[in-house]
Amino acid sequence: MKKIAIIGAGISGLYFANLLQKNLKYNYQIFEKKKNFELVNGYGIQLSVNSVQLLNEIGFKNIDEQEVSFPKKVIFYDAKSSKKICDIEISKFNYEHNKYTTLKRSTLLKFLLKNIPRDNIFHNCELKNIEYKDKLSLTFSNKYKDQFDYLIISDGVFSKSKSMIFQKKIIPKYFNSIALRGNIKNIESNDISIYLGSNFHFVIYPVNQNKEYNFISVIKKRLKEEETKDKKYFENDDFLQSTLNEISSKTSFNFKNKIKNLKSFPIFISKKFDQPKINNIFFVGDALYAIPPSFAQGASQSIESSKEVYEEIENNTNTYYKKRYEKIKSVNLRSIFNHFAFHLSNRLIVFIRNFLLKFLTKNKRFLDNYLGKIYKN
Ligand SMILES: Cc1cc2nc3c(=O)[nH]c(=O)nc-3n(C[C@H](O)[C@H](O)[C@H](O)COP(=O)(O)OP(=O)(O)OC[C@H]3O[C@@H](n4cnc5c(N)ncnc54)[C@H](O)[C@@H]3O)c2cc1C
Repeated sequence: MKKIAIIGAGISGLYFANLLQKNLKYNYQIFEKKKNFELVNGYGIQLSVNSVQLLNEIGFKNIDEQEVSFPKKVIFYDAKSSKKICDIEISKFNYEHNKYTTLKRSTLLKFLLKNIPRDNIFHNCELKNIEYKDKLSLTFSNKYKDQFDYLIISDGVFSKSKSMIFQKKIIPKYFNSIALRGNIKNIESNDISIYLGSNFHFVIYPVNQNKEYNFISVIKKRLKEEETKDKKYFENDDFLQSTLNEISSKTSFNFKNKIKNLKSFPIFISKKFDQPKINNIFFVGDALYAIPPSFAQGASQSIESSKEVYEEIENNTNTYYKKRYEKIKSVNLRSIFNHFAFHLSNRLIVFIRNFLLKFLTKNKRFLDNYLGKIYKN
């Protein structure tokens, strides 16, 4: 029986564990830094059909339909006037049970945790040392030490394990943007609404069938390095309120008293795609490469990468990093381009952008290339 260590119990680590759980050839242990899981927050996540198909393979299609939403369209609005620019019929990419899905992140985590025996998860635990012998000899912060055949690194964008493996400090870079997110209720739409403003955009989408919605805004903000590292800076009520007021003043959309549980955080992305020299170490999800959020592909790519590593181990191939590099390159380019196009401020350029958007969002060839290629596994 092959023994596998998974570092980090986020979306990618837990999805990987679900794949192993169905296969008696493997014995695995998950090592998670946090004391416990945050399974109550109402913040949302979007999953495109590529990841929904992979989730369906582990039973996602049986999830309570009240707990998810299947938006049919992505609708673009001008943030200032709240006038519709155009829409994309995202449901065109749906097939069989595989539908573009929005839900609470906590709903997804609960689903991913359902089939994992609790004894397979060590909480409060980080990787401390690796010795490369016949197998990988791993030592953890709780003094646990064991030998493993494979090591899966899924500890997110700030992966400490990455620095340990590459024996140099690898830190992600601040994307000159912050995220502001919250919960909002009773919006009269079942679709994904994207409001494009000058140096900011915000997105509202349903997270279930109970009229609960996720609000997420990405706002350009230059910050000093110390500020990006200071949690208190982002938790401060004055900062949260002033950031919300800043967007409010640039849009006719009425947020007043509507957004609850407001939170903010700096957005970090990866600087470089790093590939380890040792064959039985695999990076997945944000630990491998964190992309900007403006294409809503982070979680979907995390799930895809875990599936690919599982297949690499099962079939004893050596193609994972090459294939992943190509896919991440395509997603990253689109995410950076979206971010740029969503935040334009010059009025003439905005006019041209909106004109092009109207045309492109109805152009099948463009959509198949821009979205369809990414939504295919
Ligand atoms: C503003 C914003 C909006 C987003 N919206 C979307 C969206 O709509 N759709 C989408 O697909 N993606 C979205 N994403 C991206 C998505 O959230 C991430 O890509 C995804 O969560 C990455 O999953 P992961 O498993 O790699 O990492 P994570 O989900 O971050 O999990 C990492 C886990 O590792 C643990 N950990 C950390 N360090 C250690 C350590 N040293 N030892 C052990 N455990 C450790 C953490 O506690 C955590 O449990 C968004 C991101 C941002 C910033």
